[in-house]
Amino acid sequence: MPETRRLRADIDLAAVRSNVRALRGRLTGGAALMAVVKADAYGHGLLPCARAARAAGAGWLGAATPEEALALRAAGDTGRVLCWLWVPGGPWRSAVEADIDVSVSARWALAEAVAAARAAGRPARIHLKVDTGLGRGGCPPADWADLTAAARAAEAEGAVLVAGVWSHLARADEPGDPSIAAQEEAFAEALAVAERAGLRPEVRHLANSPALLTLPATHYDLVRAGIAVYGVSPSPEVGTPEDFGLRPAMTLRATLAGVKRMPGGHGVSYGHRYTTPGDTTLALIPAGYADGIPRHASGTGPVLVAGKWRTVAGTVAMDQFVVDLGGDAAEAGDEALLFGPGDHGEPTVEDWARATGTIGYEIVTRIGARVPRVHH
Ligand code: PLP
Repeated sequence: MPETRRLRADIDLAAVRSNVRALRGRLTGGAALMAVVKADAYGHGLLPCARAARAAGAGWLGAATPEEALALRAAGDTGRVLCWLWVPGGPWRSAVEADIDVSVSARWALAEAVAAARAAGRPARIHLKVDTGLGRGGCPPADWADLTAAARAAEAEGAVLVAGVWSHLARADEPGDPSIAAQEEAFAEALAVAERAGLRPEVRHLANSPALLTLPATHYDLVRAGIAVYGVSPSPEVGTPEDFGLRPAMTLRATLAGVKRMPGGHGVSYGHRYTTPGDTTLALIPAGYADGIPRHASGTGPVLVAGKWRTVAGTVAMDQFVVDLGGDAAEAGDEALLFGPGDHGEPTVEDWARATGTIGYEIVTRIGARVPRVHH
C-alpha cells in the first residue's frame, strides 16, 4: 500500500461512471461513446477508469500510445479500442494481434498496418484520419484521395478493414468559432471522397468533449470524449461541469508538513518572491512541481487550509510550497485541499487552470507518478 498521507489523489469512480452515463445521454443520432483514457486516463489511473467507463456503457476506449492500448488488453479488456499515435517501427503487429483498431494518416502507416496484418495472419482494423483543419496529425486533403484509394486496395486484398474515417477539431472549445463549420464541411467532403473510393466505414467520428457538449451535428457514429469523462470543463466558454451534470472525479489533498509563526518582513521560499507582510503563520504543503504542481502557481495557486482559500506564497519548489495563514491557526497534520469538486469549499481544477494560465486538462494530467491515486 503506498503512503497516502503526504499527498494523494482520490478518484471517485462513481463520478466517472455517472459522467459516462450523462455524456451518453447527450449523444445524438445513435452515436456511440469512446471514453478517451490516454495519459493514464488524464492522470486518473488507466485501468480503474477504463473499467468504470466500460461499466457505464462506453463501447469504445481511446488511447494515444500503443502501450496504453496494449495495457488495456493485458488487463483483460476485450472491447473496441482505438489507438492513434503511431511512429514507423512501432508495435503495429502487437496491436493487430491484440485486436486493437489503429489510426492511419499516411501511406507509410498504411504500409505498416498491411505488414503487421500479414505477420499476424489477420486483417488490421484501421481508421483513416484526415486533417480537416487542425493542422496537427491527419492526412492533408491534397493526399486524401490517394490514401483512401490505397486503403481500399489493401482492403480488397484482405490486408486491412477500414473500420473508421475520422478527424479532430481545433477549436471546439470556442463555441461559435468559424473554424468549426469549416472543419465540419471539410469532414463531409472527406467522407464523400472515401465513399467514392469504395470505402464503407463502420464509424465516422469527429467530436471530442466540447463538441459532444455543444455541437450535436458533429456526433456522427462515435464521439471521443476525454476531459468530460473526468468531470472537468473543456473551457470556460463551454461552461462549468455542473452545467452539463458532470462531476469532477479527482480530489487532490495534502497533509500539512509544518506550521510556524514568523515575523513580518521575512522572505519565503526560493528567490524570496514573497515577503511576510507582518507577524503571521506559515503552513508547509508537502507538494511540489515533482508532483505536478505547476511552478507557475507561485503566487497564484489556491488551496483550502483551515477553512479558507490561501494562495501559494512564494515559489513552488520541487517537493513543497508554503501558504500564509495570516492570523488563522492550523497545525502539522491538518488537511489541505488543493482541488476537488468543491463540496467542501475547496478550489476546483478550473480554478487552478485559471490561476496558472493553463487548461484543466494540464492540471489533472500532470499530477505526477509519485502521487498515489486512491480509487473509490
Ligand atoms: N480525440 C483525440 C484525437 C484527442 O487527441 C483527444 C484528446 O486530446 C480527444 C479525442 C479527447 O478530447 P477531449 O478531452 O477534449 O474530450
